[in-house]
Amino acid sequence: MTLVYDVAMRVRFRGQIRRQGVLLHGAAGWGEFSPFPDYDAATCARWLAAAREAADDGWPAPVRDRVPVNTTVPAVGPDQAHAMVRASGCTTAKVKVAEAGQTLADDVARVEAVRDALGPSGRVRVDANAAWSLDDATNALQTLGKFDLEYAEQPVASLDDMAALRRRVGVPLAADESVRRAEDPLRIAGLDAADIVVLKVQPLGGVRRCLAVAEACGLPVVVSSAIETSVGIAAGVALAAALPELPYACGLGTVSLLAADVVAEPLLPVDGFLPVRAVAPDPALVRAPDDVRTHWLARMQAAADAA
Ligand SMILES: [Mg+2]
Repeated sequence: MTLVYDVAMRVRFRGQIRRQGVLLHGAAGWGEFSPFPDYDAATCARWLAAAREAADDGWPAPVRDRVPVNTTVPAVGPDQAHAMVRASGCTTAKVKVAEAGQTLADDVARVEAVRDALGPSGRVRVDANAAWSLDDATNALQTLGKFDLEYAEQPVASLDDMAALRRRVGVPLAADESVRRAEDPLRIAGLDAADIVVLKVQPLGGVRRCLAVAEACGLPVVVSSAIETSVGIAAGVALAAALPELPYACGLGTVSLLAADVVAEPLLPVDGFLPVRAVAPDPALVRAPDDVRTHWLARMQAAADAA
């Protein structure tokens, strides 16, 4: 069975206000194929491999029955940031920084509010989405370091700048955007450009592929989502559940960024954890206009042809 979904986003993400994709059923369960709109067929082939793994093969056995997740704080003001963290129930928060049109003072106010909301035992990480220059990142992380950051995610764009920044600041660095192909994590380890890698199941081509990358690069892993429905999130949970070590909370508490989900019981965090369990879409909750359905089935075929 093949279902196509089309749901609204609560907040704009990658310039998009809707999230769409295909849900595939196979002998092992359900998989999600939902590459972003600008991705070409060759890139989409890896996303399809992840969906096919979920549907046809299933995942390696879990070594834990729940996984910790972080709450995500967008580029909002400090009062709202404080309230969001308190309401989340999470003990780890990822704070968006380096937002276009904002200043370092905005970032400082937001991170300070989040640290206050979590208390000294909470963990605060920041994500700049590669927006800082090397010098801006150096200044920002030296300033934000007083809030005892767990790590800074992709503060600068290039691996060379990541490596240089790592020599300048004491805050651990995590590579996210840099990790798009399985070759990259190996290069990151070789260049000393990161302390941590962020792995996402669909972009890397499946849970097993991510486990291989984690083993090859030899760095601690943070498992994050590509803002999927609960069907896609379940694959991220499977990866987090199968990793030998899971020292960091996962960026998998993202279903609430969608205005609707495709399963009756969404994978939403409870007290900062997601359960490790199978999910299946409820066909009554999955719908898309005919033109969207036609587009996505063609996109999946193109990805299959490019594999
Ligand atoms: Mg990131």
